[in-house]
Formats: sequence, structure tokens, C-alpha cells
Amino acid sequence: MNFHEYQAKELFAQYGITVPPGKVADSADAAVEAAKALGGSQWMVKAQIHAGGRGKAGGVKFCKSLDEVKAAAAGMLGTNMATYQSGGRALPVNLVLVTDATDIARELYLSILVDRDTKSISFIASKHGGVDIEQVAKDTPEDIHTIAIDYVEDLQPYQCRQIGFAMDLNAKQVRQLTGIMLGLYKLFNEKDLSLVELNPLAVLEDGSLAALDGKVNSDDNAEFRHKDLAAMRDLTQEDQAEAAAVEHNLNYVTMDGTIGCMVNGAGLAMATMDVIKLAGGEPANFLDVGGGATKERVTEAFKLILSSDKVKAILVNIFGGIVRCDLIAEGIIAAVKEVGLQIPVIVRLQGTNVEKGRELLANSGLAITPADDLNDAAQKAVAAAK
Ligand code: GDP
Ligand code: MG
Repeated sequence: MNFHEYQAKELFAQYGITVPPGKVADSADAAVEAAKALGGSQWMVKAQIHAGGRGKAGGVKFCKSLDEVKAAAAGMLGTNMATYQSGGRALPVNLVLVTDATDIARELYLSILVDRDTKSISFIASKHGGVDIEQVAKDTPEDIHTIAIDYVEDLQPYQCRQIGFAMDLNAKQVRQLTGIMLGLYKLFNEKDLSLVELNPLAVLEDGSLAALDGKVNSDDNAEFRHKDLAAMRDLTQEDQAEAAAVEHNLNYVTMDGTIGCMVNGAGLAMATMDVIKLAGGEPANFLDVGGGATKERVTEAFKLILSSDKVKAILVNIFGGIVRCDLIAEGIIAAVKEVGLQIPVIVRLQGTNVEKGRELLANSGLAITPADDLNDAAQKAVAAAK
């Protein structure tokens, strides 16, 4: 799960990491009120979306008057913003964060993540942070430093000093950085996070450090033990079909193709997508309806698949191991009727009571095309989608 910048900063503050004071607003007037309440004479207005790269997309504005705050907020709120990090989607801007516009001397980069290469938690740091960090990684990789944390020893102060020196910080700043890194490490572990990024971690004009931007990703598998994080979920930022799938406990991932897939079992679902590709088609989604492919689940699954107008045919590939094929066939028939399906459905059924299941499908009077095996099903689906 992803978080907004303002939520990341709330978490940072709880763990003793300095962030500029700020307030969120859902209207231009509320943004002006927020700026007034913060005081001072210059503010940042920042679009709250689940993607970085806002600076380059007009989602981060420096304002020197309340009128500018109002104009910046009005220009962002209610729009859909695409950035080079938003994965081809334009995300709705429902909130802006208004913060004190701190004067900054330097921008640093600091992140902590699950590092599969070293099978540990690692910090990544650079003295060249900011909106061009990807370019730094490409052009001068020697300026990107990685420190792996031994899970028995935990994060050691000397490791923080190493990072601090690599960032050209003075002794006082290194002490502050050590506090920030220890806080981040604690936050990361206590909240079961998979990534936290401070970019920029800024050296302010007075020499102190503050996190001006924050990105946090948490591990969905641990959501059940972090009710506070779950409450921060913003479904408006997520793929709508994937968000609906979560509500129905279906494992669903939106993809770019034209063939909707309904399969039971994650492995079979992966294999189905492979065979579709082999037959020259493109899957529209990954979907695992689970072992008990009941009428209710199949109906919800059809609705999910049909929520995309790219889908031109649906391939149902179900193996009746735990459930019997005749029950599955009844589920498919009922679901097709309820949803009022208009596009071709190709069904490959295999397993217990398969003959009875196929008979039910054939006699249903619905335009359901049966397939003998998976290759046959994929070829029929690809042909139907053309
Ligand atoms: P991103 O583009 O989505 O990563 O958004 P950021 O919050 O990182 O903002 C982009 C850039 O705007 C930063 O790299 C800074 O240069 C600048 N910026 C953001 N917040 C502040 C601030 O409080 N003060 C100043 N002076 N610049 C800021
Ligand atoms: Mg940033």
C-alpha cells in the first residue's frame, strides 16, 4: 500500500524526524486558511497523489503571497495529474499540502528498503538528492551509497556516520542524521514497511536537516496488524478494479491486453497468461478466483473483468479439484446471466465431474464456447478477441 506525502510526514514526526509544519486542504479557500494558520510569508503548495515526479509535472508550487497559494491550489485541486512515476495513469488531486517554504542550502537523498540482493534492510543515500536522482544514479553511480544492516546487530551509529560523511555533512549534522536514520529504522520495522524515501532530505539555510518530501510503501501482508496504516488508505489513488477486488477478496491485477482471464489458483492463472501470449494474444488481467469458485465469486470476477472496456473476450480456465465441475458450470451460467455478458466467453473446465459440467454449459442456451484443453482455449480466445 502507498501513502501520501502528508501521511508519510505524520509518520516521520511520530519518529522524531523533522518535517516542515504543514496542513492539508481540499479547496483553494482552505489552502489560504492553512497558509494563514501556518504564518510566515512563503509557502509550498503540493499536490497529494500516490506518485513522485510532481515537481516536474507542476504539482509543487512555491508561493510568495496568499493569492499565489489560492491560485496554485485552485490549479491543482480537481485535476488529474500524470507524472513520469504514475505508471501511465493520471491520478486525481483531491488534497493539497500547504507547508512552510523552507529556504534550502542542499538537497540530499536517503531511503531505506528491503534489499533482496543482500537479503537485508539497506539504506541508500546520496549527497545529490532532489528531482534528478534517477539521473545521478545513471551518470555518477559512485555518488549513490548503499549500506546493508545486519539483522542481528541492527543499525549501528558508525554506519550512520559513514552515510553522513558520504553526504559531506559536518559533525553536528551527522549527529542529526544519526537520529533520523535510527528513527527511520525503527519506523520501518515497527510498521512493517517495504520502502521509505526522503527525497529531498534538505540541509536548510540554518544548517539543520529536514525531510521535505516523503514516500512510504507498506507490506500489504502485514496490514492486519497495522489498523492505523490501513485507515490511511486512499482508494481514489488506486486502480479502481484492483481496489474493488480487494473488497471481494479476489487477487486481481489490471494489465494492458484484450483477453480477460478468470482462473482458479495463482499458478494456473500465471500459466493461462503465458499460454495466451503464446497464442499471440495479450491478457487484460491476472485473476485468481480462489479454490471455491462459487457463483458469487464468479459473478464478482466477471464484473471486475468487464469494468475495463478493453476486454474483447473472456477465457475461463477452471480446474475442479476441490469443487466439482458441475457446480462451477452452474456458477458460470448464473454469473453470465446475471451480468448480461455481451462478449465471447471461452471456457476450459477440467477435473471432477467434468462431463456433467460441460453438458450443463452446452445446454445452457448461452453463447459459451467450450474448449478441450488450455491451448485450444487460448487459441479460441485470441481468435474471438480479434
Ligand atoms: P516530487 O517531485 O514529487 O518528488 O516532489 P518534492 O516534494 O520532492 O518536490 C520537488 C522539489 O521541490 C524538491 O526537490 C525541492 O527542490 C522543491 N521543494 C519541495 N519542498 C520544498 C520546500 O519546502 N522548500 C523549498 N525551497 N523547496 C522545496
Ligand atoms: Mg521528491
